[in-house]
Amino acid sequence: MFIDTHTHLDFDSYDEDREIVIQRAIENKVSGIITIGTDLKSSEQAVKIAEKYASVFAAVGIHPSDCASAHYNDFEKIKELTQHEKVVAIGEIGLDYYHMHADKETQKNIFKKQIKLATELNLPLIIHNRDSHDDMYEIISNEGVAETGGVLHSFSGDESFLEKILLTNLYISFTGNITFKKSTTDPLVIQTPLENLLLETDSPFLTPAPLRGKRNEPAFLVHTAKKIADLKGISIEELGSITSDNAKTLFKLNL
Ligand SMILES: [Zn+2]
Repeated sequence: MFIDTHTHLDFDSYDEDREIVIQRAIENKVSGIITIGTDLKSSEQAVKIAEKYASVFAAVGIHPSDCASAHYNDFEKIKELTQHEKVVAIGEIGLDYYHMHADKETQKNIFKKQIKLATELNLPLIIHNRDSHDDMYEIISNEGVAETGGVLHSFSGDESFLEKILLTNLYISFTGNITFKKSTTDPLVIQTPLENLLLETDSPFLTPAPLRGKRNEPAFLVHTAKKIADLKGISIEELGSITSDNAKTLFKLNL
Protein backbone atom coordinates (compact mmCIF):
# COMPACT_ATOMS: atom_id res chain seq x y z
CA MET A 1 0.00 0.00 0.00
CA PHE A 2 0.94 3.64 -0.43
CA ILE A 3 -0.14 6.83 1.31
CA ASP A 4 -0.25 10.11 -0.59
CA THR A 5 0.49 12.52 2.26
CA HIS A 6 0.01 15.69 0.21
CA THR A 7 -2.68 16.43 -2.35
CA HIS A 8 -5.21 19.20 -2.95
CA LEU A 9 -8.41 17.34 -3.77
CA ASP A 10 -10.51 20.45 -3.07
CA PHE A 11 -9.10 22.24 -6.15
CA ASP A 12 -11.62 22.81 -8.92
CA SER A 13 -9.58 20.73 -11.36
CA TYR A 14 -11.22 17.75 -9.59
CA ASP A 15 -14.77 19.11 -9.61
CA GLU A 16 -15.82 16.91 -12.54
CA ASP A 17 -14.42 13.61 -11.31
CA ARG A 18 -13.33 13.80 -7.64
CA GLU A 19 -15.01 10.51 -6.73
CA ILE A 20 -13.37 8.70 -9.68
CA VAL A 21 -9.97 10.15 -8.75
CA ILE A 22 -10.29 8.77 -5.20
CA GLN A 23 -11.48 5.42 -6.57
CA ARG A 24 -8.56 5.28 -9.04
CA ALA A 25 -6.14 5.95 -6.17
CA ILE A 26 -7.49 2.94 -4.28
CA GLU A 27 -7.20 0.78 -7.44
CA ASN A 28 -3.52 1.82 -7.61
CA LYS A 29 -2.92 0.79 -4.00
CA VAL A 30 -2.93 4.37 -2.72
CA SER A 31 -5.04 3.39 0.27
CA GLY A 32 -4.59 6.60 2.23
CA ILE A 33 -4.72 10.23 1.13
CA ILE A 34 -4.22 13.48 3.04
CA THR A 35 -5.89 16.40 1.31
CA ILE A 36 -4.41 19.72 2.32
CA GLY A 37 -6.03 23.09 2.88
CA THR A 38 -4.36 26.30 1.72
CA ASP A 39 -6.72 28.86 3.28
CA LEU A 40 -9.85 28.77 5.43
CA LYS A 41 -12.23 27.97 2.57
CA SER A 42 -9.99 25.28 1.13
CA SER A 43 -9.47 23.80 4.62
CA GLU A 44 -13.25 23.59 5.10
CA GLN A 45 -13.52 21.85 1.72
CA ALA A 46 -10.72 19.43 2.64
CA VAL A 47 -12.59 18.42 5.80
CA LYS A 48 -15.82 17.91 3.81
CA ILE A 49 -14.05 15.62 1.35
CA ALA A 50 -12.36 13.67 4.16
CA GLU A 51 -15.73 13.24 5.83
CA LYS A 52 -17.11 11.53 2.72
CA TYR A 53 -14.35 8.99 2.05
CA ALA A 54 -12.85 6.52 4.53
CA SER A 55 -9.38 6.64 2.92
CA VAL A 56 -9.15 10.45 2.88
CA PHE A 57 -7.89 12.60 5.78
CA ALA A 58 -7.51 16.38 5.97
CA ALA A 59 -4.94 18.96 6.99
CA VAL A 60 -6.06 22.51 7.73
CA GLY A 61 -4.05 25.70 7.62
CA ILE A 62 -3.10 28.85 5.77
CA HIS A 63 -0.46 28.63 3.03
CA PRO A 64 2.23 31.36 2.93
CA SER A 65 0.92 32.45 -0.47
CA ASP A 66 -2.57 32.96 1.00
CA CYS A 67 -1.63 34.57 4.28
CA ALA A 68 -1.93 38.20 3.13
CA SER A 69 -5.69 37.78 2.72
CA ALA A 70 -6.20 35.80 5.93
CA HIS A 71 -8.48 37.36 8.55
CA TYR A 72 -7.81 37.24 12.27
CA ASN A 73 -10.94 35.10 12.69
CA ASP A 74 -9.67 32.52 10.21
CA PHE A 75 -7.26 31.12 12.79
CA GLU A 76 -10.08 30.58 15.28
CA LYS A 77 -12.05 28.80 12.59
CA ILE A 78 -9.04 26.69 11.59
CA LYS A 79 -8.76 25.72 15.25
CA GLU A 80 -12.42 24.68 15.31
CA LEU A 81 -11.91 22.55 12.20
CA THR A 82 -9.12 20.61 13.93
CA GLN A 83 -11.73 19.17 16.29
CA HIS A 84 -13.02 17.03 13.41
CA GLU A 85 -11.85 13.41 13.72
CA LYS A 86 -10.52 13.30 10.14
CA VAL A 87 -8.19 16.29 10.63
CA VAL A 88 -4.68 14.90 11.15
CA ALA A 89 -2.34 17.89 10.72
CA ILE A 90 -1.90 21.66 10.49
CA GLY A 91 -0.90 22.52 6.94
CA GLU A 92 0.08 23.60 4.69
CA ILE A 93 1.98 26.38 6.34
CA GLY A 94 5.45 27.84 5.91
CA LEU A 95 7.39 30.33 3.85
CA ASP A 96 7.41 31.05 0.12
CA TYR A 97 9.93 33.69 -0.97
CA TYR A 98 9.61 32.65 -4.61
CA HIS A 99 6.02 33.76 -5.16
CA MET A 100 6.16 36.44 -2.43
CA HIS A 101 2.40 36.96 -2.18
CA ALA A 102 2.99 38.45 1.27
CA ASP A 103 6.05 40.16 2.75
CA LYS A 104 8.55 38.12 4.75
CA GLU A 105 7.47 39.44 8.15
CA THR A 106 3.81 38.58 7.53
CA GLN A 107 4.73 35.11 6.32
CA LYS A 108 6.95 34.46 9.32
CA ASN A 109 4.37 35.70 11.82
CA ILE A 110 1.57 33.61 10.37
CA PHE A 111 3.83 30.56 10.14
CA LYS A 112 4.83 30.92 13.81
CA LYS A 113 1.25 31.49 14.90
CA GLN A 114 0.20 28.21 13.26
CA ILE A 115 3.17 26.31 14.72
CA LYS A 116 1.94 27.44 18.16
CA LEU A 117 -1.55 26.25 17.32
CA ALA A 118 -0.26 22.83 16.21
CA THR A 119 1.84 22.50 19.35
CA GLU A 120 -1.11 23.43 21.54
CA LEU A 121 -3.34 20.91 19.75
CA ASN A 122 -0.66 18.22 19.54
CA LEU A 123 -0.98 17.96 15.75
CA PRO A 124 1.92 17.47 13.31
CA LEU A 125 2.92 20.16 10.81
CA ILE A 126 2.92 20.03 7.01
CA ILE A 127 5.51 22.61 5.99
CA HIS A 128 6.02 24.38 2.67
CA ASN A 129 9.41 25.97 1.94
CA ARG A 130 10.43 27.72 -1.26
CA ASP A 131 13.55 29.89 -1.57
CA SER A 132 13.41 30.56 2.16
CA HIS A 133 15.90 28.04 3.59
CA ASP A 134 17.65 30.32 6.11
CA ASP A 135 14.52 31.74 7.70
CA MET A 136 12.91 28.30 7.56
CA TYR A 137 15.78 26.74 9.45
CA GLU A 138 15.78 29.54 12.01
CA ILE A 139 12.07 29.10 12.71
CA ILE A 140 12.30 25.30 12.80
CA SER A 141 15.14 25.60 15.33
CA ASN A 142 13.57 28.24 17.56
CA GLU A 143 9.86 27.44 17.61
CA GLY A 144 9.88 23.89 18.96
CA VAL A 145 9.08 22.35 15.58
CA ALA A 146 11.14 19.22 16.27
CA GLU A 147 9.02 18.49 19.36
CA THR A 148 5.75 19.13 17.53
CA GLY A 149 6.84 16.97 14.59
CA GLY A 150 5.93 17.16 10.96
CA VAL A 151 7.09 16.99 7.38
CA LEU A 152 8.99 19.36 5.15
CA HIS A 153 7.16 18.62 1.93
CA SER A 154 8.29 18.96 -1.70
CA PHE A 155 11.84 19.18 -0.45
CA SER A 156 14.10 21.68 -2.15
CA GLY A 157 17.55 22.70 -1.06
CA ASP A 158 21.04 21.28 -1.03
CA GLU A 159 22.72 18.46 0.87
CA SER A 160 23.77 20.63 3.81
CA PHE A 161 20.27 22.05 4.29
CA LEU A 162 18.88 18.51 4.16
CA GLU A 163 21.44 17.36 6.71
CA LYS A 164 20.40 20.12 9.13
CA ILE A 165 16.71 19.34 8.66
CA LEU A 166 17.26 15.61 9.21
CA LEU A 167 18.90 16.37 12.55
CA THR A 168 15.61 17.91 13.69
CA ASN A 169 13.91 14.55 12.98
CA LEU A 170 11.35 16.04 10.64
CA TYR A 171 10.07 13.85 7.86
CA ILE A 172 10.92 14.68 4.24
CA SER A 173 8.88 14.15 1.09
CA PHE A 174 9.74 14.57 -2.57
CA THR A 175 7.26 15.19 -5.38
CA GLY A 176 7.00 14.00 -8.99
CA ASN A 177 9.71 16.43 -10.06
CA ILE A 178 12.32 13.87 -8.93
CA THR A 179 11.26 11.81 -11.97
CA PHE A 180 12.07 14.57 -14.45
CA LYS A 181 15.01 13.96 -16.79
CA LYS A 182 16.97 17.02 -15.70
CA SER A 183 16.28 16.52 -12.00
CA THR A 184 19.31 16.87 -9.72
CA THR A 185 17.62 15.50 -6.61
CA ASP A 186 18.86 11.88 -6.79
CA PRO A 187 21.62 12.46 -4.17
CA LEU A 188 19.08 14.08 -1.81
CA VAL A 189 16.74 11.10 -2.06
CA ILE A 190 19.66 8.76 -1.40
CA GLN A 191 20.74 10.92 1.57
CA THR A 192 17.30 10.80 3.24
CA PRO A 193 16.99 7.75 5.52
CA LEU A 194 13.96 5.54 4.84
CA GLU A 195 12.70 6.17 8.37
CA ASN A 196 12.36 9.90 7.53
CA LEU A 197 10.61 9.48 4.18
CA LEU A 198 7.00 10.09 3.25
CA LEU A 199 5.41 9.88 -0.20
CA GLU A 200 3.37 12.65 -1.81
CA THR A 201 2.06 13.85 -5.17
CA ASP A 202 1.25 17.53 -4.38
CA SER A 203 -1.43 16.97 -7.02
CA PRO A 204 -2.88 18.56 -9.11
CA PHE A 205 0.67 19.96 -9.56
CA LEU A 206 4.04 18.35 -10.35
CA THR A 207 2.87 15.40 -12.44
CA PRO A 208 5.59 12.72 -12.57
CA ALA A 209 7.16 11.40 -15.74
CA PRO A 210 5.96 9.79 -17.98
CA LEU A 211 2.63 11.59 -17.47
CA ARG A 212 3.91 15.17 -17.52
CA GLY A 213 1.46 17.59 -19.09
CA LYS A 214 -1.53 15.80 -17.58
CA ARG A 215 -3.28 16.88 -14.39
CA ASN A 216 -1.65 15.08 -11.47
CA GLU A 217 -3.65 12.88 -9.07
CA PRO A 218 -2.94 10.50 -6.15
CA ALA A 219 -3.01 7.39 -8.40
CA PHE A 220 0.15 8.68 -10.12
CA LEU A 221 2.11 8.34 -6.87
CA VAL A 222 3.48 4.99 -8.06
CA HIS A 223 5.80 6.71 -10.58
CA THR A 224 7.50 8.79 -7.88
CA ALA A 225 7.56 5.77 -5.56
CA LYS A 226 9.24 3.64 -8.27
CA LYS A 227 11.97 6.23 -8.73
CA ILE A 228 12.63 6.44 -4.97
CA ALA A 229 12.60 2.63 -4.60
CA ASP A 230 15.14 2.32 -7.44
CA LEU A 231 17.42 4.92 -5.86
CA LYS A 232 17.16 3.15 -2.51
CA GLY A 233 17.69 -0.28 -4.06
CA ILE A 234 14.54 -1.78 -2.56
CA SER A 235 11.27 -3.00 -4.03
CA ILE A 236 8.41 -0.58 -4.53
CA GLU A 237 6.30 -2.74 -2.17
CA GLU A 238 8.89 -2.41 0.58
CA LEU A 239 9.10 1.36 0.06
CA GLY A 240 5.29 1.54 0.19
CA SER A 241 5.18 -0.39 3.42
CA ILE A 242 7.93 1.62 5.18
CA THR A 243 6.60 5.03 4.11
CA SER A 244 3.02 4.05 4.96
CA ASP A 245 4.14 3.05 8.45
CA ASN A 246 5.91 6.42 8.75
CA ALA A 247 2.77 8.29 7.67
CA LYS A 248 0.58 6.28 10.04
CA THR A 249 2.97 7.05 12.91
CA LEU A 250 3.27 10.78 12.21
CA PHE A 251 -0.39 11.47 11.41
CA LYS A 252 -1.88 8.76 13.67
CA LEU A 253 -3.96 7.57 10.71
CA ASN A 254 -6.77 5.21 11.46
CA LEU A 255 -6.18 2.94 8.41
ZN1 LIG B 1 0.70 21.66 -1.51
